[in-house]
Amino acid sequence: MSRSAHPAGPRHADVLTDGHYSAPPADLNALDPKVWAHTVGRDADGAVTVGGLPVTRLAEEYGTPAYILDESDFRERARAWRTAFGADADVFYAGKAFLSRAVVRWLHEEGLNLDVCSGGELATALSAGMPAERIAFHGNNKSPEEIERAVAAGVGRIVLDSFQEIVRVAHTAQALGKRQRVQIRITVGVEAHTHEFIATAHEDQKFGIPLASGQAAEAVRRALQLDGIELIGIHSHIGSQIFDMSGFEVAAHRVVGLLKDIRDEHGVELPEIDLGGGLGIAYTSDDDPREPHEIAKALTEIVTRECESARLRTPRISVEPGRAIVGPTAFTLYEVGTVKPLDGLRTYVSVDGGMSDNIRTALYDAEYSVALVSRTSDAEPMLARVVGKHCESGDIVVKDAFLPGDLAPGDLIAVPATGAYCRSMASNYNHVLRPPVVAVRDGEARVIVRRETEEDLLRLDVG
Ligand SMILES: *Cc1c(COP(=O)(O)O)cnc(C)c1O
Repeated sequence: MSRSAHPAGPRHADVLTDGHYSAPPADLNALDPKVWAHTVGRDADGAVTVGGLPVTRLAEEYGTPAYILDESDFRERARAWRTAFGADADVFYAGKAFLSRAVVRWLHEEGLNLDVCSGGELATALSAGMPAERIAFHGNNKSPEEIERAVAAGVGRIVLDSFQEIVRVAHTAQALGKRQRVQIRITVGVEAHTHEFIATAHEDQKFGIPLASGQAAEAVRRALQLDGIELIGIHSHIGSQIFDMSGFEVAAHRVVGLLKDIRDEHGVELPEIDLGGGLGIAYTSDDDPREPHEIAKALTEIVTRECESARLRTPRISVEPGRAIVGPTAFTLYEVGTVKPLDGLRTYVSVDGGMSDNIRTALYDAEYSVALVSRTSDAEPMLARVVGKHCESGDIVVKDAFLPGDLAPGDLIAVPATGAYCRSMASNYNHVLRPPVVAVRDGEARVIVRRETEEDLLRLDVG
């Protein structure tokens, strides 16, 4: 993931004078469908509902903070990706965005494959019945035990990330009497950003094998010589929270260039190309993500065109969306604890969670929206910052927000688009207990990951 999650967006270093944020939205009670899960609305009393259930009831039953996940929205998005890419391509959901056994079952039912990048993610996938051949194993430092487990389980592919790993996987597979299907992850020398395109220095990172230096071609040479592995394709993942297709265009051009060189040197046409994930979602009303069918069309056209001009058979394409599937399907429900107006500055609204349930604001300077969800309000907007309960001044959930001026302790507020990289990156900082994930669908709610308890914490602390 790139460090700047939204580099070309408004920075509002000084929100008070920034034109963009100096004007509050016209209607603070409105819920922009771009940033909220599909079934979100308001009931007659003004409370927000999701999956047919008011958040007030969800808070009573499951407590706060809680991640509330709209299951039908998740399934619709997964299906939209599956349908958009069709039978001649594969969609691997990137499990690191958010993984649980319920999610694995939904993916399985909707016909998606799954990316994992640790033994823990592999165990979760297998325990929920994902067929091993539909799992891809990633990571820049897979342990020998992880490699052995993945090969023994029969995962569909291992994505190789270094010269050592090429040899390790080949030897492990041979020792187990298997031939493991693999891809090689390369860095193509582009880093995709929202609107901007930085063509320097991004080969200087831990993932992948650089194409430009000739190391990727050398990796292919070695992989083709080893009996334990079958090289099925080349993998490229250019970044995250991408809105613009030009980065994929350059990546596809360069990957196909490598396929052509491989054909010329070895007489082999590799059958697959994986273009990774990274497609952006709307965190605020300013973001305009693309629909899966537009992405599928663009990627398929790019690869087909590049292959035609290189006189190659068009390989089978795979993609790995994580955020674009799960991100928009969940919001974090918080209870307001304290409301502290700082004269001439803004009002600090403290919630019962914070950087332990959403590290993205602190880590990437990510932007989020927020709304009062337990009721509507006609009060004047106030400039606010939503902060957590941790012992850090950087414990910020939403940096710049407008909330109704009558906001009070006990109100429920929600931060939308927290389905990806929030629960999966959650921590126990300050021994705060990680929130549950509650899935809602057709008027029913069910806990798919339960809230952590003090007992859970103390069980690990063996004294
Ligand atoms: C993180 C990652 C993804 C998913 O990225 P999103 O931004 O969630 O779509 C896909 N492929 C690889 C290799 C990744 O590391």
